[in-house]
Amino acid sequence: MDKNFKEEFTQIIKFEPPLYKQRHQFVKDLVEKYKPKKVADLGCADCSLLWMLKFCSCIEVLAGLDICANVMKEKMHTLSPLPVDYLQPSERSLTVTLHHGSVAHKDPCMLGFDLVTCIELIEHLEESELKKFPEVVFGFMAPSIVVISTPNSEFNCLLPRVMLYRHPDHKFEWSQAEFQSWALETARCYDYSVEFTGVGHPPTGMEKVGFCTQIGVFYRKYPQTRESVQSEKPMEAVYKTVFKAVYPSLKDEKYLQNAVINEVIFTAQIIKHRLMSKREEYSDDPERKSKFQPSMDCFSDYLGKVVVEKNMEPFVSGNEVYIPLTTIFSFPKVNRLCGSFEKLCKLIAGKVTLSSDGSAVMFNIEHENEEN
Ligand code: SAH
Repeated sequence: MDKNFKEEFTQIIKFEPPLYKQRHQFVKDLVEKYKPKKVADLGCADCSLLWMLKFCSCIEVLAGLDICANVMKEKMHTLSPLPVDYLQPSERSLTVTLHHGSVAHKDPCMLGFDLVTCIELIEHLEESELKKFPEVVFGFMAPSIVVISTPNSEFNCLLPRVMLYRHPDHKFEWSQAEFQSWALETARCYDYSVEFTGVGHPPTGMEKVGFCTQIGVFYRKYPQTRESVQSEKPMEAVYKTVFKAVYPSLKDEKYLQNAVINEVIFTAQIIKHRLMSKREEYSDDPERKSKFQPSMDCFSDYLGKVVVEKNMEPFVSGNEVYIPLTTIFSFPKVNRLCGSFEKLCKLIAGKVTLSSDGSAVMFNIEHENEEN
């Protein structure tokens, strides 16, 4: 290539967003398209891709693997649940685990994944590790989809300061033909198909060099059979687990119970408040007060399409206000959380003050009256 031509390009090649973000976005788009439940990131380094993926609501299991424990530990705290995750537990369950080990070794904790990502990993592998890698990932783990990205050496002529490889730890960098021939052979061996793409477009007029990062997306051709899942998989653990976070989820009965109790009390308070304000309106006029009947009409905004039966009316008796559980159950959020009336009764039993027959939430308003 003409030296001046090269220099002209090296001045202007700056990817926006940065290339690593484009690679991670590529994976995120794939996750949003195929909605895998279990995703493993091999060579996860500082966990930045895992952190991005934890916000994908389809994912229930996220695992990272790296041969360097220190690089994983640096930011692994960012994978821990935040206070807001405890205050508002999500409907999905999510477990994030980090393992210390090599992609050249098989470990049972790596079984059962739907998607496996290897972003800028293979070029860091020694020859002996690269040889074992296809059998571990495609033969043993055998997920539905594998994403492998690696530098495209043909692009290097356009990158400033790259003499041999882009990173001192790279053991090799492949041209498009080299990567594609390795990927096609691997796919053929393990019954996968592969599609090639990339991120980091070459400048106009230089399309021939291809993407800066080349990507192969491998799809397993046949569903896994029972035999293939169980066949002679070694069950000895060789990786060391360095981090595990189980996110609070409404699938866990203790978080569901908490959420239901909070929602029931909140809903009952709203109903009580409306009831008392209506009563107040009538209180100036003794004749109107004697005719006062609470009505669920005033909750139509909350209830939406739910049909309100007559026996769901809240009522006041002496110093006590009673909000029937059937009324509370008809509020959409309570309804959705519990699923059934029986479940609602079970979850709040002994946790919320109820009428003696257990059919209504009861509030004593004696002191509230005194304050007024
Ligand atoms: N995937 C990351 C960065 C990759 S850098 C990203 O998208 O930004 C390559 C990573 O692979 C390094 O963290 C390195 O420690 C790890 N690595 C190298 N050899 C490995 C091996 N045999 N098994 C697992 N991880 C390995």
